Parts: sequence; structure tokens; C-alpha cells
Amino acid sequence: MPIKLYNTLTKQKSEFEPLNKDEVRIYSCGPTVYSYAHIGNFRTYVFMDNLRRVLEYNGYKLKHVMNITDVGHLESDADEGEDKMEKAAKKEDKSPYEIAKFYTDAFFKDMDKLHIERPEIIAKATEHIDDMLEFAKEIVKNGYGYETSTAIYFDVSKLDKYPILSNRNVDEQIAGARVDVDPEKRNPYDFAIWIKAPANHIMKWDSPWGLSYPGWHLECSAMGRKYLGEEFDIHTGGVDHIPTHHENEIAQSKGACGKVPAKVWMHVEFLQVDGGKMSKSLGNVYTITQLEEKGIEALAYKMFCYTAHYRTKLNFTFEGAHSSQKALNRLRESYINHRNSNETIDSEKIEEYKNKFLEAINDDLNMPLAMSVVWEIARNEVKSSKLADLLIDFDKVLGLDLANSQKYLNEQKEVELPNEVTQLINERKKAREEKKWELSDELRDKIKDYGYIVKDTKEGMTVEKI
Ligand code: AMP
Ligand code: ZN
Repeated sequence: MPIKLYNTLTKQKSEFEPLNKDEVRIYSCGPTVYSYAHIGNFRTYVFMDNLRRVLEYNGYKLKHVMNITDVGHLESDADEGEDKMEKAAKKEDKSPYEIAKFYTDAFFKDMDKLHIERPEIIAKATEHIDDMLEFAKEIVKNGYGYETSTAIYFDVSKLDKYPILSNRNVDEQIAGARVDVDPEKRNPYDFAIWIKAPANHIMKWDSPWGLSYPGWHLECSAMGRKYLGEEFDIHTGGVDHIPTHHENEIAQSKGACGKVPAKVWMHVEFLQVDGGKMSKSLGNVYTITQLEEKGIEALAYKMFCYTAHYRTKLNFTFEGAHSSQKALNRLRESYINHRNSNETIDSEKIEEYKNKFLEAINDDLNMPLAMSVVWEIARNEVKSSKLADLLIDFDKVLGLDLANSQKYLNEQKEVELPNEVTQLINERKKAREEKKWELSDELRDKIKDYGYIVKDTKEGMTVEKI
């Protein structure tokens, strides 16, 4: 069955054909590691995970690069303000490298909790300075770059067309531009590919233009080309990347090698909170840890993301997230019920579910529709391990770790248990490990006195309130 993907470049949903038959090459813009990633950022990475898994489910091998921005991302995407890494380093009284390491580790910890597959290649900007410098030199050599007292700028007027990704009309924007334009720029929308470092700037490297550092957009162009070639299949990011970051990435690649780097450009709409923008001043920029503190697992947040198509805005509320947590637990229970039963189910019915699911995910990753098929299976009156197998098959795309359903349910129940009961359970686990069956039964009775019943199943022990 063909896969259809929406392409921001063509503004159309069309059949996906990789440039190389068996391998799909993808570049995803990764995090700027100056702070904890928030749940909005993770909506974008959950989408990235879905894309990977859908392609893999369809039999493709992947070569996927994600960058880690640890230098050069200024406070505004359009060359304004301080480098975010340097600002955080000053605030936390650490070196930018320490800041980068700390928040990169934190990022991957959350990625693992969300069961987001790791791209094959993780590329840190600071480890690719030579590649970026080479790219900048090519742009300048080809006549697309020029030097000012502060930076090397890309001259957008040299391109046949700019912009090509966003709908913005440059002339209109120039006329209405309210931003103070650097008087040394030839055109208001020229952007810095290489920035001359002020004396107090920590991250800087030797270059033909003195001690300096790369602009944010350049890292993605240079690392994309290094690992995936001048032309590859898919480029992903959030919608905020369309007008500046991705537009400028395309400009740079055209300037250096005359090509638009990716065939398909995919963008995720924003996660909003309580119907509005997430912002530090409103105190609603939540992290995965903050959700966990409120009893919402990372995987429940992932499932919450499946309540909307990636191209529509999604409104986060704690009420909605708690509902997703409950729904995830219900799905886990349904999976276990199917797993432990062996009623007869038509193979035609299984095929029908499989087709419906595949149709949904291959239609530009329609996860809400795919989840409706999952719920049909979960609620099926016939309980069969074949349906449990089907859910496990679909979980290759969902990435909800359904195979470990019992473990998660146990863990949650343990969290709510009184301390005395937890202690008795641990003693009973030890007794069973030591094959002291009589002691184990005695402990089971004691636990019962507290109002809890212990069951030993194939998947492990469960504890329920009587
Ligand atoms: P950053 O670390 O700021 O470079 O952002 C990492 C990714 O998260 C980028 O792809 C952004 O487009 C994306 N992003 C930022 N805010 C949101 C949001 N509220 N909802 C969805 N994606 C977002
Ligand atoms: Zn990027």
C-alpha cells in the first residue's frame, strides 16, 4: 500500500517514493540544548518517531540524522540577540559545554521514557565545525555570501526565488518590516551563515574571517549533506521552522550546490497549553518530569499526542492528559485480557483490522484514525491472543511498549500502596525467590488483611484492592 505524505514544499499530499529504493534518508532538526526540552518540543519528536516507525512498518530501512544544536542558535531565529548556549552558561555559571552535556543527557532520558527510537546518527554541531566552515566557504566562493563587520551574510537576492517554502511575500515583509535591520545587510532578509565572535564569546573557532562561530541554519545544511548527500528524502521540524530556519537551509544548499536538499518537508503544528501559547511568563512550559509528578507517564503523553493529527494544533490540558493516562491503562488491561484468552476469531477480521490500520498510518500518519482501529480491537467482544498479537504488531508503530503492559500496571498499583503493604510484597517476592512457599502464603494472607489481593500470573505478580 503506498504511503502518502504532506509536503510543505508542494503544499500537497502525495505518494512517497524514496530516492534510493530500499533506504529512506531523513534529517530531523533536533533540540537546542540550553534548557530542558518541553512537552511541545516532544510533540515534534513523537511525530518524528511515528514517521520512522511507519516507514519501517512498510519495510523501509532508514538512515536518519538528528542534530544537537550546541552552538549558534541566537535568541531569535532571525539573527537577533545572544547565543542561547552562552546565555544559559552565564546564568548557571557553567561552561557552554557543561550546559550542552547536561541538557543533552536530560533530553535523551525523556526520549527513552517516550520510547522514541533513536535516529541512526546523532550529530552535534560543535563536532562538525570543519564541515560547516567548508560549507560557508563554498557559499562565499559561489557568490552568495558577503562579509560585514559582524558576520558573513547570505545574499538572498542572488537566488532565483526566495522564499520557496513559506508563503510569505518578501516585498510585503520588507515594506512592513518593523525590525531594525542591520545597515550593513544588502537585503533585510539576508541572514548570517558565520558570525564574528565578540571578545567575551566562549565558543569560537579560527576561520578566514577571524575567531568566529557558525550560524544556526548552517549546521543543518552541512550535517545533512555530510551524512545524507546533497539530496535526500525527508526533512522534519516544527512549523516555526518553516519561514526562517528551513527557508534559510534551502537557500544555503542552493548557494553551495544548487539543490534543494530534501524532497519532502514535513512540519508539526504546535502544542498549545490551555488554548494558548506556552510561555515561561505564564508558567505553563511543562516538562515530562513535571507530568510524571502529576501521575502522567511519558507514554500517556505520547498517547495524548495521538488524539490529534500532527498537522493540526493540539491543546494540552491536565484533564486531557489524565484521560490519556486512564485510556492507556485501559488499553493495557484489554491487551492482557486478549493475551490470556483463546476464543476463536476470524482470520478475515484480523486482515480487515490490519488493512484499516495500515490505511490510516499510510495516509499522512493519521494516528487518531489508527487509534480508533486499536480501540475497536481492544473492545472486541471476542477475547483472543491473536488480537493481542495484532496489538503488539501495531505497537511497532505506536511505540507504547504494550508488551510490558502488566509491568506498568503493577508499578502504578505499587505506587498507590501503603508502605506496610509494599514491605510485605517485597518480603513475599524474596520468599518466592527463595522458594519458601509457606512463608509466601502467610505473607499473602497478611497482605489480604490490609485489603489487598495478590495474584501470580505468567507476566508477573499483580496486586489489587479487594
Ligand atoms: P528547539 O529546541 O527550540 O530548537 O526546538 C526543538 C523542536 O521543537 C523544533 O522542531 C521546534 O519546531 C519544536 N517546537 C517548539 N515548540 C513547539 C511546540 N509548542 N509544539 C510543537 N513543537 C514545538
Ligand atoms: Zn535544523
